Amino acid sequence: MKKMNLIYKSTRSNNETVTASEAILKGLADDGGLFVPTSIPKLEKSMEKLANMSYAEVAYEVMRLFLTDFTEEELKSCIDKAYDSKFDTEEIAPIVKANGAYYLELFHGATIAFKDMALSILPHLLTTSAKKNNVKNEIVILTATSGDTGKAALAGFADVEGTKIIVFYPKHGVSPIQEKQMVTQKGDNTYVIGITGNFDDAQTGVKNMFNDKELAKTMNDKGYQFSSANSINIGRLVPQVVYYVYAYSRLYKNGEIAKGEKINAVVPTGNFGNILAAYYAKLMGVPYDKLICASNDNKVLYDFFETGVYDRNREFILTSSPSMDILISSNLERLIYKIADNSAEMNSNLMNGLKTEGNYKITDNMRGQLDSFLGGYADEAKTKQTIRDIYEQTGYVIDTHTAVAASVYHDYVASTKDETKSIIASTASPYKFTRSVMNAIDEKYDSMTDFELVDELSKLSNTEVPQAIEEIRSAKVLHDTVCETEKMKDSVEKILGI
Ligand SMILES: *Cc1c(COP(=O)(O)O)cnc(C)c1O
Repeated sequence: MKKMNLIYKSTRSNNETVTASEAILKGLADDGGLFVPTSIPKLEKSMEKLANMSYAEVAYEVMRLFLTDFTEEELKSCIDKAYDSKFDTEEIAPIVKANGAYYLELFHGATIAFKDMALSILPHLLTTSAKKNNVKNEIVILTATSGDTGKAALAGFADVEGTKIIVFYPKHGVSPIQEKQMVTQKGDNTYVIGITGNFDDAQTGVKNMFNDKELAKTMNDKGYQFSSANSINIGRLVPQVVYYVYAYSRLYKNGEIAKGEKINAVVPTGNFGNILAAYYAKLMGVPYDKLICASNDNKVLYDFFETGVYDRNREFILTSSPSMDILISSNLERLIYKIADNSAEMNSNLMNGLKTEGNYKITDNMRGQLDSFLGGYADEAKTKQTIRDIYEQTGYVIDTHTAVAASVYHDYVASTKDETKSIIASTASPYKFTRSVMNAIDEKYDSMTDFELVDELSKLSNTEVPQAIEEIRSAKVLHDTVCETEKMKDSVEKILGI
């Protein structure tokens, strides 16, 4: 049977249509928009069937519906290379029940944060896409990171033939362990640069380079082309849909939920990629009810869901959940486009408002289509308190990002009395944010070094220190470049010798 090809369009114009593999290669559309599938496919396998599949098998069932121009062999090969022994559990994404909620642990991959779920497969999707499209250029992955993407992308692309990876991170905006993980990255094709600005500056700098036609031409002449590993790449988004399907199928398999029972998902959010994947899973037919978007003090999304106004004109706050310290949630554009009835014109106008004024307001009609979503936020004190409470009540230790979601979840239950079973996306291992986590549990830990804290956490939580942390205890710093925000392009040109 010949399957229908799913076409992708830009959120900012009607002209550009591409296949999945072309969308993965390009990352961003030429007009600056994001690629979206023209429709969201429905799951073809029943929940009974999915419940008896492995993670890799579920991944195939979900991804083949989005990446329709990949052959079965190509896609299965990508999946098998990604979800292997790099993960420390065969379940890949296990679920832990604590205090009435189901924590979906997305941090069992190489860099112990949820970005691994997508970034362990993206390099394979990308090199396969390059082959399919007869690309001869070397692919240069350009990435801005608030901490976790960078390391996960570096780990994914290190020494992958035909690629180079350049990562920019805010020098003073990531945790010490996050920084150490990045600057010790091995691989001849890896480059890590700290910038003096914040994450949004890094992201803007990267976006500007992607939109720089002249730079693209110079690079092409020298045999290079950019691609993006940021969460705007459809090759990041699609693998994230998988675990929302998988999580539901596991709860069903284990008898935690009845057939067709609706559940909620609570997602600690920054760039809006993870929660958008949950929404796509819902649109595919998985019975998710409310999607609760949890923010930290940078609560631009909370305000958006409350008022219909997206306004980035506010103070940028550094928090203990740095991967969510974001004022421009890039992936929200895909949702805006959808609730504008796929109007590229309407979406472009709003995004233009964001660029020039720093804000936009959606129409009442658009707001009416947001009823799946709900916003919540937790400030620093609440986040800390939540880590301590859950530890004291259950012995389970969660990281700061997950704690933002847990706090929002418990507030939601207290105020609505909604007893719908809920999945909380657990996006990082507590070992990645050890100092903040241990400080939340007891201030007496303040005086210990980072690695003393790691050992203390291991005792306290009765869990083994993850391999990713063991590795950096003694690793050498291999990258120490710092540049000013305005000099990002110069750095790239220097690396490529152009
Ligand atoms: C990236 C990240 C988030 C935010 O995910 P988005 O897809 O950007 O919304 C949350 N928690 C952790 C630990 C992360 O690394």
